[in-house]
Amino acid sequence: MPEINYLWTPPAPVSLPVRGTSARFPVNRLFFVGRNYQAHAIEMGTSVDKSSMRPVYFTKSSANLAQSGSVAPYPPETADYHHEMELVVALDEPGFRVDEAAAARMIYGYACGLDMTRRDLQAAAKAKGNPWDLAKNVEHGAVCGEITPAGGHVLRKGEISLSVNGERRQHADLDNMIWSIPELIADLSTYYHLQPGDLIFTGTPEGVGPVQPGDRLEGRIEGAGTIVFGIGPAE
Ligand code: MN
Repeated sequence: MPEINYLWTPPAPVSLPVRGTSARFPVNRLFFVGRNYQAHAIEMGTSVDKSSMRPVYFTKSSANLAQSGSVAPYPPETADYHHEMELVVALDEPGFRVDEAAAARMIYGYACGLDMTRRDLQAAAKAKGNPWDLAKNVEHGAVCGEITPAGGHVLRKGEISLSVNGERRQHADLDNMIWSIPELIADLSTYYHLQPGDLIFTGTPEGVGPVQPGDRLEGRIEGAGTIVFGIGPAE
C-alpha cells in the first residue's frame, strides 16, 4: 500500500482497554440513549410510554471520548455540568435492521460510562427546540472504562451506582431499563448500519446532578466493571 502523505499527523485512533488482554478495542461511533429509566425521565420533567414511543438517541464524537482514570477540565459555557452514569454496550459485529436475537450476537462486552452533560445548555436547547449538541457533545464529555468481554451475553439486571467524593449519588438496577439491550440495538439498527467498534451508552438512572472542579467520580456496574473520572479546574 502506498504511504499516504498527510498535510499533518492525523489524530491517533481512539481505543479502550479490554479486561484480560493487552489488545485494545478500537472505537468507532458513540451512540447515546436519551431516556431509558422511568425515574430519570420523571426527574427531567417527562415520562416514557413504551407502547407509543421509541427510544431517543443522540451521538457524541469519538474524539470527545475520555478514558477512565483521567481528569478533564470543568468545561466552558456551563454552570451546571452533570454526571449521568450509564451502562455501555460495545459491539464487535455489523448489523442493519437486525432482530433481537441477532442483536445479542453483536455484543462484544460491557463497560461503565459517563454521559457528561451541560444541563443548563440542554434545558435552553429543549426550550427553544434547538439541537442538543452543545449540551452533550462536550470535549472529554463521554467517559468510558475498561471493556469486560461478555460473548453475546445479555445483561438484564445488576446494580449500577455512582458516587461523587465518596458520597452515593446514583443507585439503581439495570432491570429498570425501559428498553432492553437487544431492543436498543435492534431499534438503533433501523437508523444506522451498526459497525464493529460502535459503543451504545444505554441511558442513566435517576440521581443525576452537578459536579464541581476537584470532584472525583467513581462508578460501578455489576458485570461491567468500574469507572473513575476527575473534574479539573475550569479553563
Ligand atoms: Mn445520558
